[in-house]
Amino acid sequence: MARRTLIAGNWKMNKTASEGVALVKDIKAALPCGASVPCQGPEVLVFPAFTALTAVAAEAQGSCVAVGSQNIHWGANGAFTGEVSAEMLRSVPVTHALIGHSERRQYFGETDKTVNQRTHAAVASDLTAVVCVGETLSERESGHTTEVVGRQTRAALNGIGKDNMVKVVLAYEPVWAIGTGRVATDEQAQDVHAFIRSVLRDLFGAEVSDATRILYGGSMKPDNAAGLLAQPDIDGGLIGGASLKAADFVAIVNAVG
Ligand code: PEP
Repeated sequence: MARRTLIAGNWKMNKTASEGVALVKDIKAALPCGASVPCQGPEVLVFPAFTALTAVAAEAQGSCVAVGSQNIHWGANGAFTGEVSAEMLRSVPVTHALIGHSERRQYFGETDKTVNQRTHAAVASDLTAVVCVGETLSERESGHTTEVVGRQTRAALNGIGKDNMVKVVLAYEPVWAIGTGRVATDEQAQDVHAFIRSVLRDLFGAEVSDATRILYGGSMKPDNAAGLLAQPDIDGGLIGGASLKAADFVAIVNAVG
């Protein structure tokens, strides 16, 4: 089954609302699609900061650029200072939520359990959950990559019914490659993607495993994107640094074979 490539930009804590709008304008202008031209090629998605979501979503409306949030809380409302609910996000509106990014796991106490709770909240509200998994350098060097990535994948998807997997995208992001300029080789990335797909097969069967997209993230740039994106189990990219400049981001979109 053909999986449509997805190129997503994680803006992290960058871009004010007006800077985000300008960036999306530039991305739209460089993509060969728009209100009167159907979206072709890869799906394109950006994750602005919460403060820029409304303005960026308004700018992206009717274009081929989808907009997602960088987090989502599992509660409907209440005493959760600093968090944002699915209903609030849907009212923007956004269509995707990024969950379990390694920076959240490293610096903000995100756990396998909360990643799972957030994933449930997203799919229950018909948002697409983009769920990140990935090992640290010491975990890789001590030979624990598949153990860690397998555990994170199984935990994130615990209780997510097979039918909800159409609303889930996974992102393999080796922590040692994020923001470091040190990218996984095509082969290293492909090996872990194939492993994640085998976990999906185990959990949900071949049909779901064949249909679920698995993105690679970690220092993906215009000059290394084509090799990574050509791998059979790599279905797109989650891009940090290189998503902050329209030219670089669109060059990655155009690197999709
Ligand atoms: C990310 O933050 O998801 C990421 C992959 O960052 P970078 O591309 O900068 O390594």
